[in-house]
Amino acid sequence: MAKPRPENSARPPSVDVVLRDAAFAELLTRFGHQVVRDAIRLELAEIRQNVGAVDTAPGAILQAVRARVSRRMAPSLKPVFNLTGTILHTNLGRAPLPDVAVQAMVAAAGAVNLEYDLKTGKRGSRDSHLAGWVQQLTGAEAAIVVNNNAAAVMMMLNTFALGKEVIVSRGELIEIGGAFRLPDIMTRAGCILREVGTTNRTHLKDYQAAVNPLSGMILKVHTSNYQVQGFTKSVPEPELAALARKHNIPFAVDLGSGTLLDLTRFGLPYETTVRETLENGADLVSFSGDKLLGGPQAGIIAGRADLIAQIAENPMKRAMRLDKITIAALDAVLRLYANPDQLASQVPTLTALSRSSEDIKALAGRLQPLLAEALAGQAVVEVLSCHSQIGSGALPVDLLESYALGLRPIGEGDKALRRLAAALRDLPCPVIGRISNGQVILDLRALSDEPAFSVQLGQVAACLRAAR
Ligand SMILES: *Cc1c(COP(=O)(O)O)cnc(C)c1O
Repeated sequence: MAKPRPENSARPPSVDVVLRDAAFAELLTRFGHQVVRDAIRLELAEIRQNVGAVDTAPGAILQAVRARVSRRMAPSLKPVFNLTGTILHTNLGRAPLPDVAVQAMVAAAGAVNLEYDLKTGKRGSRDSHLAGWVQQLTGAEAAIVVNNNAAAVMMMLNTFALGKEVIVSRGELIEIGGAFRLPDIMTRAGCILREVGTTNRTHLKDYQAAVNPLSGMILKVHTSNYQVQGFTKSVPEPELAALARKHNIPFAVDLGSGTLLDLTRFGLPYETTVRETLENGADLVSFSGDKLLGGPQAGIIAGRADLIAQIAENPMKRAMRLDKITIAALDAVLRLYANPDQLASQVPTLTALSRSSEDIKALAGRLQPLLAEALAGQAVVEVLSCHSQIGSGALPVDLLESYALGLRPIGEGDKALRRLAAALRDLPCPVIGRISNGQVILDLRALSDEPAFSVQLGQVAACLRAAR
């Protein structure tokens, strides 16, 4: 049986007829022929499939096409609220940047003195913008910066141990989310992995027995995302440094997250700093720009000047060098570290990590009635205590006391829960929480913009109706 036809339903017009309609002129000028044409074709195809159920009036088509075009032309990267409880969430872009870093990125967007010495008018070095600050903040003789810490590890391995053996403890053969597995990186860097010790215990004598004329490097890797507990033994850095020196090979430490300051000043657990690692005798230390440091994605290598110079000359450096935008952002963040007293208020990662649980509880208390009202009849909203984690392999077993809003859908079952989570993701600035115990949990530790969060709550109900 035919579906009932609405008033102005008719055979849908052809793409060309629609395109000639003067009403589309503005869309065509703004977005170009190709995009508008594709949108019209898709819209008409849908109308043909649902003959009768869709309004084919020209005004209706224009509106639908406009919506399609704006969805198609919207940026793919969208700002979101990270309320997952994982502060450095790799899938959500890790460290949110400080305002000064954002301004620096904008300022660097045009022509800049990236590799140009303004004093002499001659060619300059791209690494010079950052090296001085890394040296000052870590005590290193020299520094070099690449795309991320994985690239930094790759550069250290490839520069000093190409075709040679790299001695690593079995307890440190890490895999980090994504495809960063130390043994695989080593193969691709052209090195031979020389595992020593056992999973839980490695002694100095294990390293000593492994050193031979083929040895290129001793590497220590921070066990970022796990901890070996119980009957364990690892070799202190000064002893490994002495062994490496005796055999004239570099001792490198991949610190992973890496921190420039003693984090206990922010109420966080103690974590060895880059400076301490260098003082312990490491020749090279690598760490990330966008983990605890709170800056842009980058990999920083600090250490001995002669070794850094060799890394700079490795042809692979060209493939891993930083762009000017990242240099600008990292430079701005490093300069913030010159004044540690202001850091907690200026670096969003440190702001979130050092936030007191009372402060988060008060925030939860203010937001609970707003969200309860927005979801009236759909979900019950309560304030819960919870634990945030730092994430990205930083301080893996340390949890921070926090507070969350727990949203329990009134409809039963997983489907209602998934719909609710989907509705929150469908907001103009998507809200990303986690699902646990039949609730959508929104950990508020990382929520910095309370007004921006509140202002869109009025749209939650509509998103929920639209969510399947
Ligand atoms: C995170 C991490 C890496 C990779 O760093 P990216 O900046 O993500 O490339 C390497 N090693 C360790 C120990 C890490 O924690």
